[in-house]
Amino acid sequence: MKQLLMILLLLTAGISYAQKDKKLTDQTVNQASIAAHLKFLSSDALEGRDTPSKGLEVAAEYLRTQLELYGVKPFDEYPDYFQTVNMKKVIKPNQGVISFDSSQFELEKDFLLLNGSNIDLSKQVVSLEYATPEEIEAADVKGKIIVATAGDGTDMSPRAWFGLVAEKREAAKAAGALALIELYNSPQIPWSLLVRYLSGKRVELDYGQEEDDFTSIWVNNANQSNSPAFTKVKRLSINISGASVERFDVANIVGYVEGSDAKLKEEYVVYSAHYDHVGIGQPDSTGDAIYNGARDNAIGTVTVLEAAKNIGKYPTKRSALFIFFAGEEKGLLGSEWYVEHSAVPLNEIVYCFNSDGGGYNNTNLATVIGLDRTTAEELLIEAIEAYGLKAGDDENYKDQGLFDRSDNVSFAKKGIPAPTFTPGMDAFDDSIFKYYHQPSDEFESLDMDYMYTFYRAYVLSGRMIGNMKETPFWKEGDKYYDVGKKLYK
Ligand SMILES: [Zn+2]
Repeated sequence: MKQLLMILLLLTAGISYAQKDKKLTDQTVNQASIAAHLKFLSSDALEGRDTPSKGLEVAAEYLRTQLELYGVKPFDEYPDYFQTVNMKKVIKPNQGVISFDSSQFELEKDFLLLNGSNIDLSKQVVSLEYATPEEIEAADVKGKIIVATAGDGTDMSPRAWFGLVAEKREAAKAAGALALIELYNSPQIPWSLLVRYLSGKRVELDYGQEEDDFTSIWVNNANQSNSPAFTKVKRLSINISGASVERFDVANIVGYVEGSDAKLKEEYVVYSAHYDHVGIGQPDSTGDAIYNGARDNAIGTVTVLEAAKNIGKYPTKRSALFIFFAGEEKGLLGSEWYVEHSAVPLNEIVYCFNSDGGGYNNTNLATVIGLDRTTAEELLIEAIEAYGLKAGDDENYKDQGLFDRSDNVSFAKKGIPAPTFTPGMDAFDDSIFKYYHQPSDEFESLDMDYMYTFYRAYVLSGRMIGNMKETPFWKEGDKYYDVGKKLYK
């Protein structure tokens, strides 16, 4: 009898606790503010928030202004909420020729520059089988150009070959070679695809290290077509031009609200989303070339704003850390930078509640990528169901690997439990692709009644994690469980 009473008491305590958070959620989340944020962030004026762009800068100004308005505090290191992220744009060469005897090989059509920059040189050739570090060490390569076959003869995947290039390059450079040319022949990734993948420009983080200019090249050797020429060559010329590197800065926006519990406030819950998108690009059939990114990721950005508005007014027991990332679309760059330059030690961050939206096709759902991977699962389900939605995960499209494709994974890799909250998506199909990374991903196409429900479910989930009794963690057996154990000791 006594035990039963105790259980009943605990149950009612639990219920009223969630109910209190729900009441506080309802007090700050409203349709007008959601619509205003979404409209502004996805407006044509911001030109799709590319990294870097004027539109991204304006979005950043907007976000820090809102944080200030909501009572979110800046860290001493980032007094204006801006964490500078150093990046660089690496522009690939647009012209190049390899020539010897009477043969000429053209950039992209016949070869690709994997590493290096503009170059003009004519040198003696040394032929090696695979140019493994051992082969390089045993040969006299000083002042010469090495010609070899891609890979090492064991693993036949181009991905593995690509992985080997770095160590070959290191060895070649250390031995005084001037360039490394490898013959590429794989039906797994045809040449045309490789060209699309490796040419053009790319944006990377800039850690200030010097550019590695060592020339490393793959030559198209489909069906061994170029083997005869390249195995006989004694001397060749490489002439490449048009490559450049542009350095620039963008901002992650960072702020916090101190927790209300004397002890739990030492633990931080991150509320995060990327605010960049892909900018201006190929026009669609209507001639629209602005990729507004209302779903991806104005929706996620606004989850963080709504959480900031709510927790700024009604702090949770744990401290809250709000972060907006730049450069996600360039390869999760802002979040990768953040975890290397965190405003608080990573082992004080107990959870990262990220939000990123590719789109939605089921308005009865809120989807959590990684729902069943952390001990907050039941609590998330409870919060989502409190608003009449069902909690879904990525069960139907696990093969997309979405967990590892958004900013949450930068935290997960460090050991921090980190799912991604997203509007209801029960399949990764045409209904998603209709808007996914398209100019049509605009505010007007959003279901605002659903958005209102969705945002309340997010804020309540976030509040409940911030107030959760036990510190959330990975479930046992998760691939990030061990690194998490290490992080928190
Ligand atoms: Zn996204």
